[in-house]
Amino acid sequence: MTFASRALIDLRSDTVTRPDERMRAAMASAEVADNVIDVDPTIRLLEDRTAEILGKPAALWTPTGTMANLIALSVHLRRGDRFLAPRGAHVLTNELGSAAWLAGGMPEALETDAGPGRPSVQTLANAVAGGIGGPYYLLRTTVLCLENTHNAAGGAVIPPDEHAQLVATAQEAGMKVHLDGARLWNAAVALDIPPAALTVGTDTVSVCFTKGLGAPVGSAVAGSVTFVEKARRIRQMLGGGVRQGGVLAAAGVLGLERIEDLATDHFNAERLASGLAGLGWDVGSPQTNIVLARVGDVSITLRMLRAAGVLALPMAGQVRFVTHRDVTTADIDEVLRRLTDAAQERSAGVAPQAG
Ligand SMILES: *Cc1c(COP(=O)(O)O)cnc(C)c1O
Repeated sequence: MTFASRALIDLRSDTVTRPDERMRAAMASAEVADNVIDVDPTIRLLEDRTAEILGKPAALWTPTGTMANLIALSVHLRRGDRFLAPRGAHVLTNELGSAAWLAGGMPEALETDAGPGRPSVQTLANAVAGGIGGPYYLLRTTVLCLENTHNAAGGAVIPPDEHAQLVATAQEAGMKVHLDGARLWNAAVALDIPPAALTVGTDTVSVCFTKGLGAPVGSAVAGSVTFVEKARRIRQMLGGGVRQGGVLAAAGVLGLERIEDLATDHFNAERLASGLAGLGWDVGSPQTNIVLARVGDVSITLRMLRAAGVLALPMAGQVRFVTHRDVTTADIDEVLRRLTDAAQERSAGVAPQAG
């Protein structure tokens, strides 16, 4: 076996992609200016295109999705306000508590009883309680933070009708709605609808250019013009006011042209999941580009995978494989071949003892 064919196949995340030549060229030749003193034209272009795709009046570039979520929650929350998010949401478990530490919110996880990553309207209605109303001595529940697709639930999609019911329930109680759409593109491609169909009614939406779209840096948070004015000040407070950031934004502009390519990642995830199931793994059918496998021992499995030349990550007590634009369908077939070989070697290894 050649060295190249044994190169590690990296399915840890769709963030491991490296910018290709075209993207690097676009970055190198980007038109730029100081985006704190003035406006960087390429950042502005990316913000305008993002806002349009998301069906919002305005958008603000941020270095990361974590900052985009934090900015939205900082604008919406007052200290001590309660905010709701589905159990396992990125804002609850993967942002180091910044929603509480910096935005001052008190988090409450919603059970995902309508399906993977999806709280039912009843669960939300119960948690909303009085929302922003009620007597002065009661806790205020002011924000609902949805996540589409839901990462820890295996790239699970919230369909538009359920989204609309959840948003309406929150808004009837006077709450704001933020959508963590780091992988909103994946949801839109999976449902074959425009991304804007999945942002209806939300006050704010965050998106990442670094997940399936392959940019090395960059996210955005979209909302009203007034929201973006406030958001710009908070981005500056957080140290996110970059100067000639057009070099980075150019990657996002190109990324937005590649949304449809995500269908390949979804096809590859489905192929991986069915191949793994054929090898006896306990995996469900992925809705987008994330495959979760229930295994006996996550760390032993990850070590076995690495020895076989496959990288994955632990997620929500399971093993997570993510397909992305730097892995091909042939790579997925190679993953399945390696795992088939590894399983055969293991059973050959135990056979003498059994005999
Ligand atoms: C990756 C991710 C983020 C944060 O994005 P970063 O750019 O890594 O900070 C937020 N929400 C979800 C659901 C994500 O998957």
